[in-house]
Amino acid sequence: MELDLHPTAEDLAEHVAAKNATVHRSSVYRTLEALSELGLVEHVHLGHGRAVYHLVGPDARAERTVHLVCDSCEAVVHVDSSVFVGAAEVILEQTGFTIQPGHFAIPSRCRHCE
Ligand SMILES: [Zn+2]
Ligand SMILES: [Zn+2]
Ligand SMILES: [Zn+2]
Repeated sequence: MELDLHPTAEDLAEHVAAKNATVHRSSVYRTLEALSELGLVEHVHLGHGRAVYHLVGPDARAERTVHLVCDSCEAVVHVDSSVFVGAAEVILEQTGFTIQPGHFAIPSRCRHCE
């Protein structure tokens, strides 16, 4: 099984089990939790509640990275959250809401599925 860039917790647990059957699923989940607390991984919702894990690199922090997901082929791309700065300011001014675009992917349609 190939592990993609955005595995779910279940994908990771299966991947680990395939490599070493003695590692219990619950320890994979616990490890993920620990890594999340340390800020090394974070989860993102790509659609319909599907949470996947995203490795946090030096320039891939939640507040800096926004996920776009194609609603047809489920391709995922990252964009820098700076592109939303203008919209965020207008929204804050008009509604008092601070948007957090990093936690949920923005439903999109990729070039190939148009
Ligand atoms: Zn969440
Ligand atoms: Zn990601
Ligand atoms: Zn697509």
